[in-house]
Amino acid sequence: MVRRKHIRAVVEQLLKEHRIRSAPVPVAEIAKSLGAEVHYEPAEDDLSGFLYRDRKHKRSVIGVNAQHHPNRQNFTAAHELGHFLLHDFDDVHVDRQFKVWLRSAASSQGTDIEEKEANLFAAEFLMPARFLEKDVEEIGEFDLLDERVIQRLADEYGVSAQAMTFRLSYLGYVEQ
Ligand SMILES: [Zn+2]
Repeated sequence: MVRRKHIRAVVEQLLKEHRIRSAPVPVAEIAKSLGAEVHYEPAEDDLSGFLYRDRKHKRSVIGVNAQHHPNRQNFTAAHELGHFLLHDFDDVHVDRQFKVWLRSAASSQGTDIEEKEANLFAAEFLMPARFLEKDVEEIGEFDLLDERVIQRLADEYGVSAQAMTFRLSYLGYVEQ
């Protein structure tokens, strides 16, 4: 089971502690303050990112493929931060082209749930429900049917239009 309530609580706490009141949420900055450095480096296209954890030396690194679109890099960094906070991986966890919005053909159920949790964390973290509620109120739900409005909102949050659409639908503001 994906721990939806737990994940939202973790995100709420983080935003509160870091006094984040509006988008965009500074992923790398927050990750660093929690003990995980974020490194942006070019990599082969199917590699999105990774989380490296060295418990012995208390060092963690989040790697992000710098060749991807900045919005995607944000999502990858947030996804890895989700693993860092929610899961007990040792050593290295590598994410190759996770199908964010599709059900992945996961090798095992456990892995599948962890990936879903990391994706949900990333969505909650980059597009907090509270922030969106305010924005949607200002925009008006009708205007959410306009692709340009979605794009503008997505740019503001540093995510792709696809991710924003999915999030708005998840929160019940639009039909997908
Ligand atoms: Zn992952």
